Amino acid sequence: MSVVVQKFGGSSVANAERIMRAARRAIRAKQAGNQVVVVVSARGDTTDDLIELAQEISENPPAREMDMLLATGEQISIALMAMAIQELGEQALSFTGVQVGIRTDSTHTKARIKEISTARMREALDAGNIIIVAGFQGVDEKQNITTLGRGGSDTTAVALAAALKLSGIEKVACEIYTDVDGVYTTDPRIVPEARKMDKISYDEMLELASMGAGVMHSRSIEFAKKYDVPLMVRSSFSDAEGTWIMPEAAWMTGFPVCGAALAKDEVRVFLENVPDRPGVSHQVFAAIAAKNIAVDMIAQSVGRDGKACIGFTVMRNDLNLTIATLQPITTELGGSIAPVEDVCKVSVVGSGMRTRTGVAEKMFAALTTEGVNMKMITTGDIKISVLVDKADGVRALKAVHHSFALEKARPGAGEETVGSLEYQTKTIIRQDAAGDLAQAISRLAGMEDIVISGVKLDTNYGRVTSFDLPDQPGNCSRVFQTVATGHILVDMIVQNLTGPGRAELSFTAPKTDLTRALKRTQDVVREIDPNARVAGESDIAILYVTGVGMRTHTGVARTMFGALASRGINIAMINSSEVCVSVVVDADRGEEALECLREAFKLT
Ligand code: ADP
Ligand code: ASP
Ligand code: MG
Repeated sequence: MSVVVQKFGGSSVANAERIMRAARRAIRAKQAGNQVVVVVSARGDTTDDLIELAQEISENPPAREMDMLLATGEQISIALMAMAIQELGEQALSFTGVQVGIRTDSTHTKARIKEISTARMREALDAGNIIIVAGFQGVDEKQNITTLGRGGSDTTAVALAAALKLSGIEKVACEIYTDVDGVYTTDPRIVPEARKMDKISYDEMLELASMGAGVMHSRSIEFAKKYDVPLMVRSSFSDAEGTWIMPEAAWMTGFPVCGAALAKDEVRVFLENVPDRPGVSHQVFAAIAAKNIAVDMIAQSVGRDGKACIGFTVMRNDLNLTIATLQPITTELGGSIAPVEDVCKVSVVGSGMRTRTGVAEKMFAALTTEGVNMKMITTGDIKISVLVDKADGVRALKAVHHSFALEKARPGAGEETVGSLEYQTKTIIRQDAAGDLAQAISRLAGMEDIVISGVKLDTNYGRVTSFDLPDQPGNCSRVFQTVATGHILVDMIVQNLTGPGRAELSFTAPKTDLTRALKRTQDVVREIDPNARVAGESDIAILYVTGVGMRTHTGVARTMFGALASRGINIAMINSSEVCVSVVVDADRGEEALECLREAFKLT
């Protein structure tokens, strides 16, 4: 038997006519011989309206009651959809999250799915019904209604598909119907020239979604990747083929960048003058993680005179809690929290950047030409993110999109690819560091638990650090331009502000190229400011921890920092993305760090 899960977003069920249209689509899928599960969101702006309603009563409504309220939006949709299907002469049954057995943890307003019992669904499907499930909601152990976070219906849909697959159904596919006809190279509402992609890898979509591409809830992609669910994003208003989200294929590495994204809801928090010693970052990030706040970009400056600066971003709605949590800790450490800035984050993503030189340079050059200043830079395995002033966000996104010619046709976006949809290679992160993902998944207690599949130590890199660079547009670009001209593959990049008007820029490069990288950086930095200092270091070790959905799970950083701190190992640099967190430590502590991280993530 084959099952199709069709998810209809808010705009796709906004009025009666659209509900009927979606109902006809579900019926067509059934008539084609599938069992059909329909997942629906709340209609139109219902969820926003409900939030406003709550705010008319209370500025700070209790999270449990918020969930009780928000879950009603989806309940309206399921009833109407079931009526529509029955009106068209097919059997349909609607279910809330509770009824269909979606069990979550108790983190109200951002709950995670623990398990889904498929018994009732299977029974209703086998009896010939199209079943309609409310997206975005579940129930915790104590029968409290929970919601999964804004945009969470995507996650419900893919999780149901995954659960049905795990229950033994051979062929399960998931279709996400929305108001665009697929995943574009960037949000087409912001950049009208953006191009529709025909195919994109799980990892690329995961990064794009978590970097701000609102078309998919990033956690839904975690499910798709973990449980290998074929997934398509397509328009509910046409029959045009949409975008396949699939395992990585060889052709996907044929170009450096597949898409760009803008995140507007972040703020930058900056801790100044904290002691530069092992355990400090752990104290800071453990406190934040304990409050379930997801930290995004983290840049810790190398530190001088025994003092370091830690910069990171959090979602705006977590800001008050973040400050309240960190104020006492920072004071106790003798540091301070700098005034918070309104920022935007521009990111580029692409599997091809793993093996290519000059990607960062191209991005930075585009921003420099636009006169956009980069406040912070971090990289990940397949992404580069730059923090810019809020007012510069859209201009920066457009410039970056254009600089990688993302509006032009290429394989997988308007042009044919070799091997079409055949899964050509399994998703590989850092080659052998990917470990055995399937094995890691089989050990999970809850469906949405964090997956850590491997830790790898790499001692083939060195680091170049420029201290006290004037914080002006163009400086980073100049450094990386020189490095790229030497065809040196830059791996991690971290740039952080260290004081008024001063920035610190570190990057790692293969040891074999370190002397050249250092020389080139020194030459260009001398031209920028003779007082700035450049240092090269070959005694470093990089540890890569790989998995799925690592950035959004607040526990990963806590475990990592905790494990390293407990052995007194100092973290000199850190980069994180959804699929890989990397840290730089002293070379002579590399093996020990590897061992303690393997232990901490139970990989031994
Ligand atoms: P739904 O209600 O169906 O879940 P969403 O509003 O959540 O719909 O997602 C669709 C919207 O996502 C599009 O209208 C588009 O503006 C936005 N979007 C952001 N980034 C992208 C992208 N890379 N590709 C396509 N759409 C995007
Ligand atoms: N209705 C919820 C929201 O608006 C969930 C969803 O649409 O995916 O965020
Ligand atoms: Mg959505």
